[in-house]
Amino acid sequence: MTSEQSPNTRADRHVDVVVIGGGPVGLAAAAYAARAGLTPVVLEPRVGTIDKACGEGLMPGGLQALADLGVDPPGHDLRGIRYLARGRVAEADFSGGLGRGVRRTVLHDAVRRAVDEAGVEVLPLSATGVTQDERCVRVPTEDSSGTGPTLSATWVIAADGLHSPTRRALGLDRDQRRTSDPEPGRRRPGRYGLRQHYGMRPWGDHVEVHWSRHAEAYVTPVADDLVGVAVLSRQRGPLTDSLADFPHLRERLGDAPVVTSVRGAGPLRQRTSRRVAGRVLLAGDASGYVDALTGEGISLGLAHARAAVSAIRAGEPDAYERAWRAATRRYALLTHTLVQVTRPTWGRRLLVPAAAALPPVFRGAVNELARPNR
Ligand SMILES: Cc1cc2nc3c(=O)[nH]c(=O)nc-3n(C[C@H](O)[C@H](O)[C@H](O)COP(=O)(O)OP(=O)(O)OC[C@H]3O[C@@H](n4cnc5c(N)ncnc54)[C@H](O)[C@@H]3O)c2cc1C
Repeated sequence: MTSEQSPNTRADRHVDVVVIGGGPVGLAAAAYAARAGLTPVVLEPRVGTIDKACGEGLMPGGLQALADLGVDPPGHDLRGIRYLARGRVAEADFSGGLGRGVRRTVLHDAVRRAVDEAGVEVLPLSATGVTQDERCVRVPTEDSSGTGPTLSATWVIAADGLHSPTRRALGLDRDQRRTSDPEPGRRRPGRYGLRQHYGMRPWGDHVEVHWSRHAEAYVTPVADDLVGVAVLSRQRGPLTDSLADFPHLRERLGDAPVVTSVRGAGPLRQRTSRRVAGRVLLAGDASGYVDALTGEGISLGLAHARAAVSAIRAGEPDAYERAWRAATRRYALLTHTLVQVTRPTWGRRLLVPAAAALPPVFRGAVNELARPNR
């Protein structure tokens, strides 16, 4: 993907907003834009229902944001979060309403339906670059057979995921290395996620996070006959190997059939220097990501989508940078702290007993993450 400042390329068509990426955040951004009276077009090369590695837990705030868009995907109610390790359990219920476990494919179809009903075009094209001047952005594209049309837009919202090509082309990636590290310049191993589904009746109404020495297994009921398991770890290996570290969970899963293939994602941590470059605004995972451990990605991305559209509507892209920081701050702080505290083995060993011993603290943290982004 390329990025230049002074385009002279011919544009085949002009719209108010080109949304790059038709995941939940890109589709929601298009829905918000249409609702704001703008003409959006979504570029998404993957056709049909899109699946992705995800824990599939929608926090109450995210569920409310979807409801505001008229999207109400079926799934399994989630009452709260439960942490488990070596016989210890800490549990906290959501105080501001239920969350919902929703299969990614079901979520995608539901948001896509809202976009279709709003009359938004979703084109089966990849953005291959962005070029911009003070008045507009041009987005060259390609389709499965080669070069596609170049679109011109007043604004671009890039929601092209964790490894956002648009972010990279604009030079908005921030170096992951820390100068304070004992060996500056050496990259720390990143964390990765793998997920799979089991065809069985869920055994509870909480998202369960099982902690082992090296990994967390994140269990989400997503339908009356389906349970998703996502494993997060710095160690990369087959999902079956990782699950061997969770005997209690393996017992629960019993001989339930595995009904989906393994999907993975990572490294999870992606840092950005800025979220706005001229007329291009980054949203969702493309705008930076800390970790999947707190199950906030979709809720946060929906808040980005709404804030990006309202900044565009007001013609004040810098307002988006401020709104992004406000929406992301508490999630980033809590998630980063949790990942750091549980990096050493002693931290992992102490976390669940500490959470069990201090219910108000655990409840406070869970509900801080679960509440809507306004
Ligand atoms: C293991 C794991 C567990 C997780 N668990 C949870 C959870 O329980 N709850 C939660 O809320 N979040 C969770 N998340 C995070 C959540 O999955 C993400 O935050 C969410 O998918 C972000 O949506 P998005 O639309 O920004 O990106 P994506 O869903 O990645 O969509 C990006 C889209 O952009 C498209 N694209 C890429 N390049 C281009 C291009 N050049 N042109 C056009 N389109 C392009 C891609 O095809 C893709 O469809 C988890 C993540 C992982 C990895």
